[in-house]
Amino acid sequence: MKKLWIDGQSAPSREGGVRRIVNPATLEIVDEVVEATAADARFAAGRAAAAQPGWWAVPAVERARLLHEVAHAMRQDRVELADLLTREGGKPRIENLDEVEWCAACFDYYGELARHSYGNSVPPVAPHQVNFTIKEPLGVVAAIVPFNYPLLLLVWKIAPALAAGNSVVIKPSELTPLATLRFAQQGLAHLPAGVVNVVTGTGPAVGEALVDDPHVQCIAFTGSTAVGTRIAERAARHLKRVNLELGGIDPFIVFEDADLDVAVPGVAWARFLNSGQVCTSAKRIFVVQSIAGEFIERFVEHTRTLRVGNGMDPDTDMGPLISQTAIERVEAQVQRSLGEGARLLTGGARLPEAGPGWFYAPTVLTEVTPSQTVVCEEVFGPVASIQVVRDADEAIAAAARSEYGLGANIYTKNLEWAMRAMSAIKAGTFWVNDPLTDNDAAPFGGMRKSGMGRELGEEGLDAFREPKHVHIDFVPERKPYWHPYRNRRGELP
Ligand code: NAD
Repeated sequence: MKKLWIDGQSAPSREGGVRRIVNPATLEIVDEVVEATAADARFAAGRAAAAQPGWWAVPAVERARLLHEVAHAMRQDRVELADLLTREGGKPRIENLDEVEWCAACFDYYGELARHSYGNSVPPVAPHQVNFTIKEPLGVVAAIVPFNYPLLLLVWKIAPALAAGNSVVIKPSELTPLATLRFAQQGLAHLPAGVVNVVTGTGPAVGEALVDDPHVQCIAFTGSTAVGTRIAERAARHLKRVNLELGGIDPFIVFEDADLDVAVPGVAWARFLNSGQVCTSAKRIFVVQSIAGEFIERFVEHTRTLRVGNGMDPDTDMGPLISQTAIERVEAQVQRSLGEGARLLTGGARLPEAGPGWFYAPTVLTEVTPSQTVVCEEVFGPVASIQVVRDADEAIAAAARSEYGLGANIYTKNLEWAMRAMSAIKAGTFWVNDPLTDNDAAPFGGMRKSGMGRELGEEGLDAFREPKHVHIDFVPERKPYWHPYRNRRGELP
């Protein structure tokens, strides 16, 4: 059984139980982990608080070296981490190998950024004064992470948080804690004890205890809008900082000039990547009428070529869904949408031939309307819902209509349509002709119900620090505007 990681060592739980981690492709038990309690979370937060001042005192250049070492250790352990990610989460192994490399690159990026980004010097308002800002760490950051990219979404939090001088307590998803524990023991163990801690367990037990713990100053959360809202309410009681990366129902517009040789596999990848369990997945697809017939026909044909199976098989394009609950939810959402008038073109059922696990066929729905379940609710599964729109204007207006604002994609070479869509659609990321590509140096996050705050880029570093303004007057003198005010009578109007 895998233990917790607290204060630089494996630690048992005080009174916690055991959780079995199930391979969603085979339904075999991969391993067991500690199901920690609120007391374990509080203990870890205390150790993190004790370690943080020492970590902030480490010179930035040395912190950078240690973060580059994390990147190196991740690359050394790439294969084992990717295999573990596949066995606990189901994603194809090739996607997990990519995920580990993206994590290493993110550590390298923040190692460098934090070496030179420390604050500003600003012009003084009077002679013999000096003004500057120092960006200080917040203290202890709780990183609460979902199942779909267990390491990447963790690293987007802890690489900048550590670079800024914070210590962290990590709560992985209860479904996918194994790669995180391995990473802590192999890739983070050279950091000073207590700077990184991992507490495995459920949201209500461990997550809420971290949100409430007085040692924790910031909660960096990625997950559903429902849980994010709950965390924000709880954190507000203690006036704690939150960084919330939440759900999305992203639009993808295929304009009439799109090259369908690119757009068909591009949109399919943007929807079926990780079996549709991606926050920025193309959950509302809009196709302009003049090309809709051909697009849909080719999209269905392409969807039928996708190979669904165990992610360890190198030919697998799409793995299983994460859990029984997840597959039941997707099934119910598709059934409801069909009852509401959507038409099923392919898929729409489980795939027992892919294996004993939670396999759902890549599914295409048309005759989708804005009021149907499949576009009103976030469908976290491989279900492409296509809405046919009259023209570019209708496509942009329909795509812009959403309570969410995570990402948006388009395919077009027409600059005017591209720029009009970019202005009209509220989204943290707007992709033109290259779906879902992230850049460590550019901010990522959501507007509206997709969250608040940003990860990555300089914004992602600032999420974990706060500025202190330092004002120095190097000639101490009595100021003419102090008491007594009778000396200033002449200034009165
Ligand atoms: P989830 O909200 O169920 O769980 C996320 C994490 O929160 C888990 O670690 C869970 O244990 C924890 N948690 C649950 N209840 C909690 C509570 N009361 N207090 C504190 N922590 C609690 O999400 P999920 O099913 O793991 O992931 C899917 C969701 O995440 C989707 O909605 C998806 O869109 C979203 N997501 C968003 C982004 C983004 O960057 N915006 C990225 C990936 C996933």
